[in-house]
Amino acid sequence: MDAIRPELIYVDGHFESGEAVVLDGRSVESVIDAADLSAGANVDNWGRVALLPGTVNAHGHAFQNLFKGFADDRAFESWRDDVLYPFSERLDGDAIYAGALFAFAEALLAGVTTTVDFFYLHDEGNENAEQVIRAARELGIRLVFARTFYDRDAPTGAPARFRESPEDAAERTLELAKAHEGDPNVSVQPAPHSLHAATPETIALALDVAARLGVPCHLHLAEAAYERDQVVARYGTTPVRLLEREGLLRANLVTIHTVWVDDEELDMLAEAGTGVVHCPGANAFLGDGVARLPEMLSRGLRVGLGPDGGCANSRQSVFDEMRMASLMAKARLRDGGALDARTAFALGTTGGADLLGVNAGNVRPGNRADLVALDLDDLSLHPLATLEHQMVNSMQPTAIERVMVGGETLVERGRLTRMDPAEIRARVAEVTRKWGRP
Ligand SMILES: [Zn+2]
Repeated sequence: MDAIRPELIYVDGHFESGEAVVLDGRSVESVIDAADLSAGANVDNWGRVALLPGTVNAHGHAFQNLFKGFADDRAFESWRDDVLYPFSERLDGDAIYAGALFAFAEALLAGVTTTVDFFYLHDEGNENAEQVIRAARELGIRLVFARTFYDRDAPTGAPARFRESPEDAAERTLELAKAHEGDPNVSVQPAPHSLHAATPETIALALDVAARLGVPCHLHLAEAAYERDQVVARYGTTPVRLLEREGLLRANLVTIHTVWVDDEELDMLAEAGTGVVHCPGANAFLGDGVARLPEMLSRGLRVGLGPDGGCANSRQSVFDEMRMASLMAKARLRDGGALDARTAFALGTTGGADLLGVNAGNVRPGNRADLVALDLDDLSLHPLATLEHQMVNSMQPTAIERVMVGGETLVERGRLTRMDPAEIRARVAEVTRKWGRP
């Protein structure tokens, strides 16, 4: 029997002491009183740490990490047309691999154990996707690869390499899922890009592919005001009402952002059991607005958190998104009680895991052994009497001492165990060297 012995364990919303986590290979077998560990148990004493579930990034675009800083401080149109689209044309397979290593390494160091990569640099195939999956596998992070459906004839200025026919997207998604079937660390899930890049028919096809695979389906929705206006102009109704009208509001749909929605649309989402990924950092960074998180939660909507792409936030930390979610709810509603730390923490752990269909987010028997250990001597966690608040509101990255995915330690004393960061730095420098300064 292998067991981990920390000082504290966060279980179901509070810290407990005197307990040990018993592992069964890649999973948690039980959480027991440390005094009950058998004499022959192989106990790994992690010392003065608080053990948490690993955090779950429910929305990101890893390649965009290479564009950090190039797209900052711009209006959305310039962010997209002057940086995102043209820079996306410059990435070959090696650069896509480098971007994924870069984002996933930063994520692991920030305590992320599961990450979504919502990916659309297809070049009419899956070779680029395999570069992202290779990077995740080499670093050991758990990956939900959200393979995008981006219509060939979508009325946007997006590069051709994003685009495919819906039938090709469906076939390639199924092929990719088949290629990685049975891999405990990789899940392939369909992701129609958005209502400006995928027709209702494409979204219906992607939902069917998701149902066939038994996984969720991801869709950017109502991120910015312009997008809502475009949907109204093209379809004569608002984004959520359009999905409802077309029979696309389903329980396996996960909508990303979901900022520009009214009360009735929130009711429709709740009624359908549709999930939402809240991206407060990116929504603020790009000037989208503030999603109505407390109103979503009061309706029982399932919500997770996502930092989003590197150049739409410049951060990979879900702990940061917890803090942002709480602060922005308080600021918007002018109510310091609008969203507490415990709720914010749950969104970034159990909330995300639930949306993605991953057995994680809680230190519980049967779940993946995806864990984060915080150094209880780190000043940013003190006073320890109110630790559950500190880990959301006050914690600095120096407190993240260990990160484990599927029973394997991938970060130890704040350092990656599987790869030298110098290799990642060199790859990032090689890709970005020619770009000069924005
Ligand atoms: Zn996104």
